[in-house]
Amino acid sequence: MLLDDRQRAMLAEMGVRVWAPKVVQQPAQAEADAVRAVEPTPVASPAPVRAPIPEQQPTRPIRQESAAPPQARQAPTTPPAPATPPPRPSVSSEGIERMDWPQLEATVAACRACGLCEGRTQTVFGVGSQHAEWMVVGEAPGENEDRQGEPFVGQAGKLLDNMLAAINLSRQAGNSSDDLSDKPAPKQGGSKESVYIANVLKCRPPGNRNPQPEEIAQCEPYLRRQVALVRPKIILAMGRFAVHSLLQSSEPIGRLRGRVHQYQGVPVIVTYHPAYLLRSLSEKAKAWEDLSLALEVAQGSVVE
Ligand code: URA
Repeated sequence: MLLDDRQRAMLAEMGVRVWAPKVVQQPAQAEADAVRAVEPTPVASPAPVRAPIPEQQPTRPIRQESAAPPQARQAPTTPPAPATPPPRPSVSSEGIERMDWPQLEATVAACRACGLCEGRTQTVFGVGSQHAEWMVVGEAPGENEDRQGEPFVGQAGKLLDNMLAAINLSRQAGNSSDDLSDKPAPKQGGSKESVYIANVLKCRPPGNRNPQPEEIAQCEPYLRRQVALVRPKIILAMGRFAVHSLLQSSEPIGRLRGRVHQYQGVPVIVTYHPAYLLRSLSEKAKAWEDLSLALEVAQGSVVE
């Protein structure tokens, strides 16, 4: 028999205990009861005095990951795609072939055709007389050249100057301020003949590493135009990279020296790089032979 509340109350007053089935609470109800259990029971009282709220509550950053379920937190995150560097403007050899000296020098100074521009202090264009009968081609600027903006100014450069002096050449000779005109400039620097010195690369490779084929390819039109503007009687190619770049050969220097090669119709003599000669003194005699051969070709006493 089911008893209503009033009957139960009466039986309780009489000390009679009555069994009643337990009411099973739904989870939502149980949760609501639990929440309520910790809430203060509202009492009929005067309006509570509220604590003043600070003007600006410090807001705590909500960390996204702490709100996420554990498996979502452990999920690998995709790294943002790296920004693609803008394509480098490549060197247009047709435009360069028509440039005069000031245009060429300005173009080289502004060149960004390869990554070497990122690390350079300045470009190293060339030095000496633009009307020289001799042209020396080296590899690339080193640290000193990058700082001073002139080729061959370090220890290797001193040796080069001594080698050139031995055959009566100087980078200072004939290098006057009106050298931009098309007329041969008056000679300076005593009785020495003039020489123009340039490198295959106009920018310093980082840490003096070897030039890369792509860097040589981008820079080559500048050197070609320099040769076309100077129109030397002889080119002295110094070191592996200069030789390979000018002659489009990969043969060792030892096999290329002692002969007359050609670059754009100009005779080329191959020799060792002065930096190599500083380390290998025994090769200096060979370098002297190369200089002597170049001298004979420049004077027209050797048939090419
Ligand atoms: N080595 C080169 O080939 N060129 C320079 O200008 C300096 C060192």
